[in-house]
Amino acid sequence: MAFRFSFGKPPPETAPAVRFRAAGEDDRTRNINLLKARRSSTFDVNAALIHQAVALDSTSMQIDRAPSGSSVTLEVDGVLHPLPPVDIATATELVNAYKQLAGLSAKEARWRQSGQFTATVDHKSWECTVISSGVSSGERTQVLFDSGDPEFPNLAAGSLREPVLRKMRTALASRTGLVLFSAPPDSGMVEILEAAVRDSDRFQRSYFLLESSRRPRAGIENVTTRKFDGSSTTIESLLQTISKEHPDVLILPELTDGTAVDAMTAQPAQSRLALTGISANDAPEALLRALSLRCNASRFAGEITAVANGRLVRKLCVTCRQSYLPPPQVLVKLDLPIAETQALFRSSGRIVGERDEPIPCPACFGLGYRGRAMAIEWLEINDAMRATMLGNSEDHLSQLRQQARQAGMTPLRKEAVALIAQGLTSVQEISRVLKGE
Ligand SMILES: [Zn+2]
Repeated sequence: MAFRFSFGKPPPETAPAVRFRAAGEDDRTRNINLLKARRSSTFDVNAALIHQAVALDSTSMQIDRAPSGSSVTLEVDGVLHPLPPVDIATATELVNAYKQLAGLSAKEARWRQSGQFTATVDHKSWECTVISSGVSSGERTQVLFDSGDPEFPNLAAGSLREPVLRKMRTALASRTGLVLFSAPPDSGMVEILEAAVRDSDRFQRSYFLLESSRRPRAGIENVTTRKFDGSSTTIESLLQTISKEHPDVLILPELTDGTAVDAMTAQPAQSRLALTGISANDAPEALLRALSLRCNASRFAGEITAVANGRLVRKLCVTCRQSYLPPPQVLVKLDLPIAETQALFRSSGRIVGERDEPIPCPACFGLGYRGRAMAIEWLEINDAMRATMLGNSEDHLSQLRQQARQAGMTPLRKEAVALIAQGLTSVQEISRVLKGE
């Protein structure tokens, strides 16, 4: 869906109202930084871009400045949307104004620098982090937006099917075991894990998050965060300190090596739940990926209780989605009951204007989608699967997949099709997310 944005200076009466609080230790420095930014010839466009980004719940904006061509991209619901082409002079002015708001050096275009400013629109504020550094083609500047509101305040916000939600909540309420979250890289693993933590009772139990200092994320209320850098503080050294505080739940967002797996499965006698994640396409593969990390395999197989393999899929904008009658062969392909399925929905991004002409939908700004849902295949581990994990089979993966089917796991594709049948998402979106899977 084409995204409309004009880099021309907006006429004063339509200029969006954005209030900025620039970086600085005191009011004087903040005012100087704001005045410097205001001197930029594109300052009104800078404000309009922020206004557009936050209206779309965008998570980041990227400005690539290069002699061969400059571009501005907005990330919305995990998808990159390029804005119309922009010349290098405009891109430079835009970048300089954001840098000045963040208290950074406008001249420095090579070394990495980062800073923050605050943007307020309609009494709501966004923390904007500017990260800028030289790349081979020129300079890349990112503005990350944080409203402080999580995308998924709980698992129900992910529109999960009731049986999956119930099983997940039971496992998350357990005092012991290991739950593994998985997805391909950047497909929602960490977001789903965090939603699971937010869904849990963090007031009755003590939660500890072990976080790599290289990949920090916004913290979760009532979860104690401890950072490791892999050299002076390691996962094991952190765990030794934490164990004195008797944690009820340990969270490590991503397993990177066997030491991490062993750390999360250590002291099985101790009563605590562990939540962690690994990159994988499906739940059985996630198990084998963890085992391939040179860990204590029998301890891992003994402790693992369930795998949540999931994806985030964009939800159709309810203002402009269009219903259609799918041809029977599409329903057959999706394995949907032909007799019961009335209509499906697809994205449009357009609504009918006052003079019966199609105009961009004001709710999704023409993108056709708004917000995301979760599709999760939930695999509960039984002793037969444990035996396969530790056995000498030629083909562990197909054997585990077969055991998962026998155990009644609803595969990811089926969970995704359920979202289509509910009209929450489109066939096109599911093909985009699941690609060849
Ligand atoms: Zn719409």
